[in-house]
Amino acid sequence: MATPSDFLVVGAGIFGSTTALSLRERGYRVTLIDPGPIPYALAASTDVSKVVRMEYGSNRQYMQMVIQAIEGFHRWNALFGETLYHETGILAASMAPMEDNEFVKSSYDMLLEEGQRPERLDGAEIARRFPAWTTGTYVDGFYNPRGGYAESGRVVGKLVAHAAEAGVDVRSGQTAEQLLLSGTRVQGVRTREGEIFSAEHTVVAAGSWTHWLLPELQPVMKSTGHPIFHLNPVDPATFTAPDFVVFFGDTSRTGWYGFPMLREGVMKISRHGVGVELHPEDDERVVYEEDFAELRKFLQDTFPALLDAEITYTRRCLYNDTLDEHFWIDHHPGMEGLSVATGGSGHGFKFGPVLGDLIADVVEDKPNDWAAPFRWRALDPGMTGQEASRYHGDEEDGS
Ligand SMILES: Cc1cc2nc3c(=O)[nH]c(=O)nc-3n(C[C@H](O)[C@H](O)[C@H](O)COP(=O)(O)OP(=O)(O)OC[C@H]3O[C@@H](n4cnc5c(N)ncnc54)[C@H](O)[C@@H]3O)c2cc1C
Repeated sequence: MATPSDFLVVGAGIFGSTTALSLRERGYRVTLIDPGPIPYALAASTDVSKVVRMEYGSNRQYMQMVIQAIEGFHRWNALFGETLYHETGILAASMAPMEDNEFVKSSYDMLLEEGQRPERLDGAEIARRFPAWTTGTYVDGFYNPRGGYAESGRVVGKLVAHAAEAGVDVRSGQTAEQLLLSGTRVQGVRTREGEIFSAEHTVVAAGSWTHWLLPELQPVMKSTGHPIFHLNPVDPATFTAPDFVVFFGDTSRTGWYGFPMLREGVMKISRHGVGVELHPEDDERVVYEEDFAELRKFLQDTFPALLDAEITYTRRCLYNDTLDEHFWIDHHPGMEGLSVATGGSGHGFKFGPVLGDLIADVVEDKPNDWAAPFRWRALDPGMTGQEASRYHGDEEDGS
């Protein structure tokens, strides 16, 4: 049996690793377990890149959280001694005049209100500044110089190594299987590998696996799979920052977004859409024929030069979607000594630098200005998610 700790954190993605680190920095004895090797290959956080953007429509809280998170990413770059957050800026392009595009317009207005300096660009200016963009399709938008992308899998690797140096007992190769209960008090977990981890308080931060470990959460969250493509452009220079930056191709109405050339020698395009419901272990994570067809259509309309690019890698990555697409960070209402920190809903990574303290505050019952929207809550099964940049399907086809 492992030495009992004050806190046991289950899951070493961005939610769990930052929680473990924050709790350790507050002086607690902390154990962090994960099936590993960390970063775990199937985790949502484990990827070459994630967008870090302030653009959240009219949701001021998320924008303010990202403004602070970006400061944190710069601190992490210094701490890690390596640039893993790249501030390329964000291009939010719109196929309609901004006035007719709720997400782009409200993001632009809110950026100005928050003292940021987005540059409004018409279609011709988009194509002049960013030559890979075709003319005609996009007529309006803006460039926000603050924002970019984080090399997410590497960030998690560095964070967990840093947490271990700071004294967190990191146990890779351990998969929580069963809560240890004394009445309604959780006293730790038993793992599939046969170990017992005892703790005063357990925090489950198991991403898409959370509601399989805690089935009472199944009515309010589901795992959905989303396609990712890595492309090898014929002319990589055109797709390299600063001539090509993290972009939103009218995301709230198409789902498409992507990244400039990454250190892996590819650029990446993904779709922030409805996705398909999948089990995190049992279902295949493949990209379907229709995803390829829809990618081709997007490339035709947006980056025709990429129609000839070799697609070097595809993956279907799992969001842990809450029905309202806001995170889920709270004490379990029915069990003492247990909290949950999950519900990334396809947009959680960018908050990494502020997540640990937010979760630690909730777990410690300290006040936190941002905690309210993420509390345990009842949700209407028929509701549409509220993440403003996300494509929620066309109303007429119900997709
Ligand atoms: C395709 C895709 C694109 C995305 N793009 C962006 C983006 O551009 N910007 C952004 O901000 N966010 C993005 N996200 C969302 C972001 O990746 C997630 O919100 C975030 O990574 C979730 O982190 P997590 O720690 O909750 O989960 P995960 O990263 O999945 O980590 C959960 C961890 O729990 C572990 N675990 C599972 N079961 C157990 C168990 N029984 N015992 C112990 N450990 C367990 C797993 O091994 C894993 O390491 C994207 C997600 C996907 C899938």
